[in-house]
Amino acid sequence: MQVSVQAPANWRSHEMLRSFNFVSTSTPGFTILRSSNKSSSNRRIKTNSPSPMATLSTVPTDKEVESTQKINPPLQVAKRLEKFKTTIFTQMSMLAIKHGAINLGQGFPNFDGPEFVKEAAIRAIREGKNQYARGYGVPDLNSAVAARFSKDTGLVVDPEKEVTVTSGCTEAIVATMLGLINPGDEVIVFAPFYDSYEASLSMAGATIKSITLRPPNFSVPINELKAAVSENTRAILMNTPHNPTGKMFNVEELNAIASLCIENDVLVFSDEVYDKLAFEANHISIASLPGMYERTVTMNSLGKTFSLTGWKIGWAIAPPHLTWGVRQAHSFITFATSTPMQWAAAEALRTPDSYYEELKRDYMAKKAILVEGLNAVGFTVYPSSGTYFVVVDHTPFGLENDVAFCEYLIKEVGVVAIPTSVFYLNPEDGKNLVRFTFCKDEKTLRDAVALMKERLRRR
Ligand code: GLN
Repeated sequence: MQVSVQAPANWRSHEMLRSFNFVSTSTPGFTILRSSNKSSSNRRIKTNSPSPMATLSTVPTDKEVESTQKINPPLQVAKRLEKFKTTIFTQMSMLAIKHGAINLGQGFPNFDGPEFVKEAAIRAIREGKNQYARGYGVPDLNSAVAARFSKDTGLVVDPEKEVTVTSGCTEAIVATMLGLINPGDEVIVFAPFYDSYEASLSMAGATIKSITLRPPNFSVPINELKAAVSENTRAILMNTPHNPTGKMFNVEELNAIASLCIENDVLVFSDEVYDKLAFEANHISIASLPGMYERTVTMNSLGKTFSLTGWKIGWAIAPPHLTWGVRQAHSFITFATSTPMQWAAAEALRTPDSYYEELKRDYMAKKAILVEGLNAVGFTVYPSSGTYFVVVDHTPFGLENDVAFCEYLIKEVGVVAIPTSVFYLNPEDGKNLVRFTFCKDEKTLRDAVALMKERLRRR
């Protein structure tokens, strides 16, 4: 078990990539672009077309970056965020563009969301649904979220008192931390963990305890978890289906976590954004276990299920006494979320089950292409039950760690993956593992596999 408030400064991805001379020191520009420097705001830069090979979400190119850096004063950041660097997803998508590589790194679909949802957004804009939404959500969306949750879990929740609409699940996470965690409270996370968890906890002043899930099954080491709970433990932050491993928490693990939380009066914050991408098992919300609803904040979003990751519509469901804290933070972070997109999200959530079945079928076909391909290339592929990610052991190819492997993969093979060491308090724990995503069209997946078959050799 790792306990840390201040992780060592050298563990973060950017330094690691730099130390491999991979992210050149002359391109710290994404850091510059994200800084709050006033002087950078009036210097918007033209966009270069990315290579047709590289898929992108929205990341600046090298040229954009270089044009700002010469005249900028030193970067400034508050202590609570100083150890965090440009996210690994942004870094890897930039490198995909720079090297014209196929991007199986950042988890965003390279295909569009459904027409009926896009049309609903356009209609809402045309109908003039364009002013501030009610802070905790457009009533129609609160109702649609509550209805879907009740269908999925059997729990009946009050859309007015127990649902808070946020700007993506990432905001739901940070609002939950800021609204319910006091400085010094301990929060337990499972490593590998999604990168925003640690930053959100750091902003809330929490002490992080990390329990490592280990391959091949990434099972929860219940005894380690028990030992980690102390009188200062305020919450367990979990994610099922789990990014990056694709692990789904099974009923025994969920029961064990639930008992522990009930016995020790601990809350659970559960990020379930991949709930509709559960392939090998049924998704179970921990809130639906006896005695758990009253101590759980369940967080979800529209992005993954409707292939609209740029819309940033999320929500938190919790009993009124916990919703209060979440809403207090949300009110002063974003106040309200995009109005027309909320109307469209409500329409999306009322879609018949056939939509989810088709989504799952499509993703299972994509997953089969990638998993079969990665096996044929020679990776040790770990089982992924849900999400659109799969984690592999890269060591058969003889590179010294995950970052070195990803560097080789981009430069010599033309494919981007995500090094996982950035998702641990102790990066050593992830040095053998890299993550690939299959939320890309089938041709892209096949092309990536073909490149790896051709250019990767076991050593
Ligand atoms: N959730 C996406 C992933 O895991 C990344 C989102 C982001 O870039 N912050 O790949």
